[in-house]
Amino acid sequence: MQENKRYYFHGDIVESGKYFCARCDLTVPISHYYEFIHSNRDVGDEDIKRFVSMKKAGVPAGYFRPENAENYIE
Ligand SMILES: [Zn+2]
Repeated sequence: MQENKRYYFHGDIVESGKYFCARCDLTVPISHYYEFIHSNRDVGDEDIKRFVSMKKAGVPAGYFRPENAENYIE
């Protein structure tokens, strides 16, 4: 029985065609990351940094993230 809540890293696929943006705390389409929504100077690098730092920090207690979770950055 799985009681933990699914944890999403920045860029993880939530469902087909929908991704998690940790910078906005929103479920977004893939175009979100490429449309200068955050800032026109940090697209790309900041998204990768955010993903890597979340991966390093790991999944908090009470949550789980599947080993094979799909992410657009990876
Ligand atoms: Zn965003």
